[in-house]
Amino acid sequence: MQSGVWWFLLALALSATGEASCTEKPMSDPNRLLRGKWVTSDRLNDISSGLKNNDGCFCSLAFWSQQQSQDTKPRCFFHPTDAEDVSAVILLSRATQCPFAVKGGGHAPFEGGSNSNGGITIDFDRMKHISLSDDMSSVAIGPGNTWVDVYRTLEKFNLTMAGGRTATVGVGGLTLGGGISFFSGQYGMTCDNIISYEIVLGSGEILIVDSKTNADLFWALRGGGGNFGVVTQFVAQTFEQGPMWGGTLAWEMVSSKGPLIDAMISYAEKGSNEDPKGALIQSFAYAQMQQMWISATMVHHSDPQSPGRHPEVFDDFLAIENAFRDTTRSTSHSNHTIEIDAANPIGLRQSYWGFTTYVDKQLAVEILDIFEEEVNQIKNFTGMVPALVYQIITVPQLKAMMSNGGNTLGINGGKRPLFLVQLTVMWMHKSDDEAVLTAMSNVLSRSQELARARGLHHPFLYMNYASQFQDPIASYGTENKARLIEVSKRYDPDGVFQNLNPGYFKLMGPPNQW
Ligand SMILES: Cc1cc2nc3c(=O)[nH]c(=O)nc-3n(C[C@H](O)[C@H](O)[C@H](O)COP(=O)(O)OP(=O)(O)OC[C@H]3O[C@@H](n4cnc5c(N)ncnc54)[C@H](O)[C@@H]3O)c2cc1C
Repeated sequence: MQSGVWWFLLALALSATGEASCTEKPMSDPNRLLRGKWVTSDRLNDISSGLKNNDGCFCSLAFWSQQQSQDTKPRCFFHPTDAEDVSAVILLSRATQCPFAVKGGGHAPFEGGSNSNGGITIDFDRMKHISLSDDMSSVAIGPGNTWVDVYRTLEKFNLTMAGGRTATVGVGGLTLGGGISFFSGQYGMTCDNIISYEIVLGSGEILIVDSKTNADLFWALRGGGGNFGVVTQFVAQTFEQGPMWGGTLAWEMVSSKGPLIDAMISYAEKGSNEDPKGALIQSFAYAQMQQMWISATMVHHSDPQSPGRHPEVFDDFLAIENAFRDTTRSTSHSNHTIEIDAANPIGLRQSYWGFTTYVDKQLAVEILDIFEEEVNQIKNFTGMVPALVYQIITVPQLKAMMSNGGNTLGINGGKRPLFLVQLTVMWMHKSDDEAVLTAMSNVLSRSQELARARGLHHPFLYMNYASQFQDPIASYGTENKARLIEVSKRYDPDGVFQNLNPGYFKLMGPPNQW
């Protein structure tokens, strides 16, 4: 065996910082695995020099949530520079039965989501290439990029793509889970805009996947998460885009929630059908410092506006008086994502929960009542920022999801708009975890019960907003789940991504039980 490999195995065995011991687990024959087609001895030596243990200089702390940056302790970080490096580390993980996690932008909010407790964390911070095709119709993106990296590159050419709305969120996780963009009404989810993937399978094989080659896997990657392989390049379609309009409006909640919910319903049922260039995020949050509830509305539109003007589709929102904040303006796509990023600071404890209902005014009002009631129990915990967020999956979005062949989410082509309801909460101390998670779980179960009783429940659960206790894949429908399992059996017959990569949403269920 090459000395680099010994170094690697020793690093795993000796640099333990977590509880689990990889070497205690049964080992496959490493020599057989390491002779694999994609692993050369030179490559293995390169890898050994690119590895450092958890006390070494390559340790990455760039995770959004405290649960991942502090509670999760990998044995080592691995920093690949290309797909072959990834192939080698997957085979080494198999050889040692040492689990691994894959980190893109590191925004998964829960422990182990993209940082491996006791295992190898594959950190893409050295795979940040972005290259535009000669005809500028597509862009090849390395998996270590965040959205602001992509937009800043494309903006130089008066282009953009339908990616995430927050600057530092990663391309990898967002795209594999679906991806809601400011442009989803026109272009569908981010995953619907991917033309091809380069992916490393559990066998170590490197594949190019597109609508014609490995078409079943191409479909599965559109919303199926990291269940099939490690994506080492995304090729996405671009479109022309200069400055666009948007920003945040905020009011005290008691007087604004009524007109805002009316405006949101009208936007969902009418405005968004007439003008698919708009995008809306409606939040209700508790502001601890001011000790008051606030409404925050993010409105965006792909057409720029002259100063003082706004797109007609948002008339009802802009007509609400006494906003204490209004940042709406025309500026670059990247600047809009930087503004949203500022509201999502790094380093706190975080939790996201999600569910879906049909659009209904009374339901929206009552879910907000439930949220307030539950949050009142926890709102004074240090650092607490709880928010109930309504997003609309509009009919044009549902239609646009069909335009490039469809995705796995099971909602494509639906004829009614949906409320994507997101519960988000930030707080400071681990000692408050139990109470915070209990409150969110209560909001979820009470709201879903209410929606069911009214005939307004929808089974869809968006992976990118799900908690570690929820099961998005099951929500895609029996048929889609069965298809995803078939694809997994075909491309990952040994179940590498189901067993050795356990921290995120798997085909058979969520990473944790509540
Ligand atoms: C502040 C904030 C804003 C957000 N805004 C949006 C938004 O506008 N639209 C939206 O749809 N969602 C949004 N989300 C949700 C976001 O899409 C998910 O949290 C997503 O998983 C983050 O991707 P990441 O690469 O940063 O995360 P990571 O934690 O790095 O990755 C998440 C999971 O994706 C998988 N993964 C990542 N890269 C790869 C890869 N190359 N190959 C295989 N698997 C991979 C891994 O399994 C990992 O467990 C937001 C989240 C936050 C916290």
